[in-house]
Amino acid sequence: MNALPWFAPAWAQFQNRLRRGQLAHALLLVAEPGNALSMFAERVASALQCRSPDANGDACGQCADCRQRQQGVHPDVEKIGLELNSKGDPSTQIKVDQIRALSAKLTLTAQRGGRKVALIEPADLLNTEAANALLKTLEEPPLETYLLLISEAPGRLPATILSRCQRIALGRWAPSALAEWLAQERASAGAESRAFALSVARGPLEARDAIDAAWSGIALEQLVVLKNIASGAAGAAGFGASQLKPDLPRALRILDHGLALALGASLGVAHGQVGEMGRTLDEIARLLGPQRLRLLSQGLQRIISGLKAPLKHDLLLDAWATDWTAAK
Ligand SMILES: [Zn+2]
Repeated sequence: MNALPWFAPAWAQFQNRLRRGQLAHALLLVAEPGNALSMFAERVASALQCRSPDANGDACGQCADCRQRQQGVHPDVEKIGLELNSKGDPSTQIKVDQIRALSAKLTLTAQRGGRKVALIEPADLLNTEAANALLKTLEEPPLETYLLLISEAPGRLPATILSRCQRIALGRWAPSALAEWLAQERASAGAESRAFALSVARGPLEARDAIDAAWSGIALEQLVVLKNIASGAAGAAGFGASQLKPDLPRALRILDHGLALALGASLGVAHGQVGEMGRTLDEIARLLGPQRLRLLSQGLQRIISGLKAPLKHDLLLDAWATDWTAAK
């Protein structure tokens, strides 16, 4: 499971550098969301600490170091992340005390005599003080120590940190390769479900999750209601309430994507959707046209950007859905 197919190019790069002695001690591991970057980082960290990696460079899973890692008791692994407060909510940033404690530990000799590995995730949430404190360790890492900075938003990292790390990026898959993988992973899913998942997801794992959580069904329900409002067959009341459950941010993300597909269709861009989904999108594009759809899309963006505010989102969405009436 930890060798997902889209890891291959980045894994080969890591292995080549390691074999040639060109691997830096400060690594920045990056990917777009939905690509299981954490899993890739674990694979790298395990390989660095295993005493007898296999032919592919992967950790053997059998040696004492591998076993201790698997049990979460390896003394030379440090994991820095968002700490939980007393209510169990994660902090919004990685703090300087965490980095100072890490730097102090890394100066000690490895207890098991092998490599020390520190994982910092999400590295883009280091606060300014913490990032500054980390610089010194990045510049002069202690012997046999590897720091893995893990980020799905590396653009937020300060340039001072970026310039001191060697970057390994999980690349994007070609759409056809991703479609093939998804068809194998979820062979029983319908073509409609797969097509929508591929168009909405930000990475392979999210595409698979989108199938499992029936995102295409949610999108179709939303679009059919909106099509009926546009054609005058239904009213807008109650639309907002139906989106509150089970997960409003996700529902709005799906809705936003559906709207983008309809807007594209109204401009002659192929939406790539099939079955009832495809027909519904075409019908919406025909009923409303690009200008109206663009305004509706902007209205939805305003609601999405106000999601964190304590507003009555169901009423806002009802008012927004009222604007779908084609007669306007
Ligand atoms: Zn091992």
